[in-house]
Amino acid sequence: MTMISVQDAQIIILELVESLEETETVSLEDATGRILAQPVSSSLDFPYWDNSAMDGYGVRFEDVKNCSSDYPITLEIVTEISAGINPKLSIQSGEACRIFTGAMLPDGVDTIVMQEKTHQEGKKVTVLSPPNYLGEFVRKRGSFYQAGEILLPSGLNINEPEMAVLATAQCSDLQVYRRPRIAILSTGNELITPSQTLQPGQIIDSNQYALKAFVVKNGGIPISLGIVKDQPKIIKQKIIEAINQADCVLSTGGVSVGDYDYIVQILAELGGEIKINRVAMKPGKPLTVAKFNNGCVYFGLPGNPVSALVSCWRFVKLALDKLSGLQSDYQPKFITAISQDNLSSQGQRETYVWGQLKLMNGQSSFSLAQGQQNSANLINLASSNALAILPIGTTKIHQGETVKVLML
Ligand code: AMP
Ligand code: MG
Repeated sequence: MTMISVQDAQIIILELVESLEETETVSLEDATGRILAQPVSSSLDFPYWDNSAMDGYGVRFEDVKNCSSDYPITLEIVTEISAGINPKLSIQSGEACRIFTGAMLPDGVDTIVMQEKTHQEGKKVTVLSPPNYLGEFVRKRGSFYQAGEILLPSGLNINEPEMAVLATAQCSDLQVYRRPRIAILSTGNELITPSQTLQPGQIIDSNQYALKAFVVKNGGIPISLGIVKDQPKIIKQKIIEAINQADCVLSTGGVSVGDYDYIVQILAELGGEIKINRVAMKPGKPLTVAKFNNGCVYFGLPGNPVSALVSCWRFVKLALDKLSGLQSDYQPKFITAISQDNLSSQGQRETYVWGQLKLMNGQSSFSLAQGQQNSANLINLASSNALAILPIGTTKIHQGETVKVLML
């Protein structure tokens, strides 16, 4: 199979991933981070009723529209309405009510005069300057939302603002897509778990944890399948186990051209259709993607810790977004930044370097992570928040020049 471009790989991946259709009911309490599976509407207008946006006095606009400091107008305060009170009285011409922020307007009041523009003495209030317009400082019933319209569309990720809206609409239960199940396995004879004692030649399986964090952050349920030795029979068994219980599998290692790299061959033996097996990017060249009959999508990621994560950020993220039912254009978040360092590449593959994106003098600026840019260097990948991209054919981006950046 030939090496394909990053752009083509993205297109192929998005084509082969199908959005999950199964839904489940969750309570409002448990809705954070879930994806709405049906549009939500409400039988309530919002605001629920006309209410005051200020502490002040409720008046009839006609009564006070011509007043000024030379012609102040004095009204009689007939009632006081604080937030939470249902006003019973109707305000007549020549009258006003004392009113506080959030309080419901009584009949007859159409405008609020802010406290600072008045002078109160006993049961009388003098208005010293006119409201700017009829309805000033009134939050009209239904002016933000009218009952029956669509409040939130299906496919929306529920974050802080959506939680506020759902609570306001009294949605105690809602339909969301079930979370995608993502199996994670690490392949390699050299690997041990973090709790084992390191023997010479061994490597601690960090990918399992990095990928688990990635899955959780992207709304999936991680299924940690642990470490698998580089033995075809054992790998085969584990992959069968993975594709039978997961919507998507992420494995690391075993996809290069070494003698112990069996994944591609095993995927094919198991009936997986190999869609990608080499991408013209650095790091991440060995990326292998296969699709199984049951719909399961298999990502065979490179073993090097940086390569594995860069592949996830560049490709698997988009696949998980689509799988999870999120409505989106499924495009990576690129921005243009000024490079604070000289960036270099061999120019043959699209090259991703890691570092920090910051706002400097009002401009987005990218600084390389200190230390070696080496796909085994998981140490300086920590606290990176962006990847700068050198396209094929570009061998240098000088300090002060612009660079395309993927935000993480
Ligand atoms: P491979 O792609 O299997 O040839 O692995 C490439 C490199 O990545 C080797 O140096 C491995 O030791 C390292 N590596 C593979 N799997 C892991 C893992 N799960 N955690 C950390 N490093 C790994
Ligand atoms: Mg290996």
